Amino acid sequence: MDAGPLALSMIGHNYLSHKASDVAEVVEKVGEVVRSGDMTLGAELGRFEAEFAEYIGVKHAIGVASGTDALFLALKVLGVEGGEVITSPMTFYATVGAIIQAGARPVFADIGADLNIDPACVAKRIGAATRAIVPVHWAGRPANVHELDGFDLPVLEDAAQAVGATLNDKRCGSLGDLGAFSLHPLKNLHVWGDGGVVTTDDDSYAERIRLLRNHGLSDRDTWEVSGYNSRLDTVQAAVARHYLSGISDVNATRLVIASGYRSQLQDVQPVSFPENAPGAISSYHLFVMLAERRDELRDYLRANGVDAKIHYPKAIHLQPALGKFGFMAGDLPAYEAALKKVISLPVHEFMGAAEVLRVCELVKTFFR
Ligand SMILES: *Cc1c(COP(=O)(O)O)cnc(C)c1O
Repeated sequence: MDAGPLALSMIGHNYLSHKASDVAEVVEKVGEVVRSGDMTLGAELGRFEAEFAEYIGVKHAIGVASGTDALFLALKVLGVEGGEVITSPMTFYATVGAIIQAGARPVFADIGADLNIDPACVAKRIGAATRAIVPVHWAGRPANVHELDGFDLPVLEDAAQAVGATLNDKRCGSLGDLGAFSLHPLKNLHVWGDGGVVTTDDDSYAERIRLLRNHGLSDRDTWEVSGYNSRLDTVQAAVARHYLSGISDVNATRLVIASGYRSQLQDVQPVSFPENAPGAISSYHLFVMLAERRDELRDYLRANGVDAKIHYPKAIHLQPALGKFGFMAGDLPAYEAALKKVISLPVHEFMGAAEVLRVCELVKTFFR
């Protein structure tokens, strides 16, 4: 397949084959790491961490094995074990999985009109057992982290979908006490496999994360604490550095596509868009809108060659994995209502104006 715009007959979410155009260049960089033999916590990882920290605007970035591990290790460092962690239900399962892995009980606060955690709802969920708050920048749209500052609890941002997104000119991952990023192949910034990054300005958090990701070894011969094997591979750091150099272009293109969708669909009454927090600029990992007759619309778009998706069709608090926590239908009214309407239109840096126009024409035709 060539690396040109996607064929009109297939407007999809998965665009990874288009990225193959620069494969030789990246392989060359990976080859340099392999030839150097510097494979574990190598110099190239240090370079990626320094560049990523600078990009996000924090003192420390620590490469780990996945976005899930970034959340997990940050929660470990925050000492949440035995307590409760408040998070948003509008997220991927890994946010909640990491909370459980870290030995805490997940508590959901309902969402606001921005589809992100509602600070007013967080206030009601805080109790003596609360150890931390984990806002999720869902779809890449910044959650209003400023309004969580007043609770005097540590804030860990799940920024897995929000690399490069900003709130009042500060990047997601620099707004709370800690930030967690994913480098999964479908995220805006990615490696060729799994990877993640923890960001923080706090020296002692950073030091603890570095310790825990490498077995708890403070040096080769001193086993300080029992830790984990959760390093970002040095070969993957070479891949991450390559794509980091292009992330601003990736995000800028996604922003253009998203504003195309918004302006062309603004008069379509059965469609609406989530509000953005004041001063927020999204990374548009996903383009999510709310639509009447959502399932029919999805089927219509798919039948016409547009890979519209539902993130996610089933409520997270009612999933079997969370059965033991006893959540009930009706616990999270705003979230449960939004789940019936959310639909994700394709958005990625290999789409052009013609594809955006075609998707919008189909949505308009459907509702006409
Ligand atoms: C992708 C994602 C994760 C998990 O990241 P992995 O790298 O796949 O482990 C966590 N939270 C959110 C919101 C995500 O989108």
